[in-house]
Amino acid sequence: MNFYIETFGCQMNKSRSEHLAYLLSQNGFQPARNKEEADILLFNTCAVREHASEKAISNIQKISLERTTGFYRPLLVVLGCYSEYVKKRVEKRLPGVDIIIGTHNLESLPELIKKNLETHRKLIAFSETPPGPFDEKGFLRTPGVTAYLPITYGCNNFCSYCVVPYTTGRQRSRPLPSLIDELQLIVEEGFREIMLLGQNVNSYGMDLDGGLTFEGLLQIIEHTMGNEKLWIRFLTSHPRDMNRSIIERVKGSSILCPYFHLPLQSGSDTILHSMNRGYTQEHYLNMVSQIREIIPEAGIGTDLIVGYPGETKNDFQETLRVAEAAQFDIAYTYCYSHRPNTQASLMNDEIPITIKKERLRILNEMIHIIHSHKMNRLLGQGTTVLIDEKTSLSFSGKTPSNLRVSLPPQSILNPGQFVPVQLTSIQAGKLWGEVIERES
Ligand code: SAM
Ligand code: SF4
Repeated sequence: MNFYIETFGCQMNKSRSEHLAYLLSQNGFQPARNKEEADILLFNTCAVREHASEKAISNIQKISLERTTGFYRPLLVVLGCYSEYVKKRVEKRLPGVDIIIGTHNLESLPELIKKNLETHRKLIAFSETPPGPFDEKGFLRTPGVTAYLPITYGCNNFCSYCVVPYTTGRQRSRPLPSLIDELQLIVEEGFREIMLLGQNVNSYGMDLDGGLTFEGLLQIIEHTMGNEKLWIRFLTSHPRDMNRSIIERVKGSSILCPYFHLPLQSGSDTILHSMNRGYTQEHYLNMVSQIREIIPEAGIGTDLIVGYPGETKNDFQETLRVAEAAQFDIAYTYCYSHRPNTQASLMNDEIPITIKKERLRILNEMIHIIHSHKMNRLLGQGTTVLIDEKTSLSFSGKTPSNLRVSLPPQSILNPGQFVPVQLTSIQAGKLWGEVIERES
């Protein structure tokens, strides 16, 4: 039998799907080329924002209804953050699904599928005991340029608006020896870029014996992999736990890329306090100044939420002010989404959707202007690009600072190549470059 996994949400989920694919392939199931050919259809879900997660769930419900009438009758499996989030109401929310699994039971997936195939009974599995150490082994990675490697799973921060600590549990760090083994395996598999993942990578090791910190981990990775032709990135950094020594470690490194994903969320101290983020705008801007002072060419990315309960016009102006001062290279912007059971969901002063959307529009406009000015200032400069996409019209790849650059098709390039590039123009909002000389 063959299977297809549809993944929603973050890179962490994508990586977990690669682990699930490995578990299934070790148990006699084959990956299907597409959804339509699959005997088993799995949905690895997300619950972070209401609109996206409800859209995904109504699509799953539609497939389960069509199944009763049509010829396409795959076995349906729903797992991951959404199932964990609605665990008490799961029967009601996912009535036509054959197997539902929480976030801490993934290893039981092959066994549950076999059991369902034998008994044709609906199976629901959630773990009642706290999960053991986080040490997922085996990933059926999609061949390509970039490999994901989660270094922690879960989160202890309980930001007031966020479901992640409830859906993934407390932070668990992957022990160092298996992390190094996995890094070496990734290199042997031919990947050129490794993305170290965690909800707050800066707190790596806090839950392990031995006192290893994130900076210590970077030092060990640098020491072990420093001679490889490889780029290593990490995300997400929490502004509260980011520090000068991590920035300096990146500066001195031959493989660590100078890109920091540092979600600000809001520029208002009142809102930051209510969000339980643990820093002020002053601390945040100080961190940004340190990055720019130590690594002037570094990229800084962020996440921003508008319309958090009680956000006044002044609070929003503060977000605009801090975003302007920080001159972000990349920004993911969201309207606040009400998530039942979080601390923020208990607050009464929800902002009307029209105001949220208007604030999002204003913020996006400003981010776009900052981005355009920054791109213009880069024209004429040289950089290195790791090619990761190839179409009939162009190649594209990323710079160490995480900027996407397109290259004309006349260059003969292949994904996985590092090429020296001069940035030459901006077309339809995209940065274009030309290869200066070929490298292998
Ligand atoms: N751990 C990361 C951090 O602390 O920045 C972020 C993880 S979260 C899955 C990704 C982003 O989703 C957050 O940075 C936040 O901007 C956004 N997000 C989370 N909950 C949200 C909510 N209830 N409404 C809108 N955006 C939300
Ligand atoms: Fe959610 Fe905050 Fe944890 Fe990020 S740090 S996952 S926003 S609780």
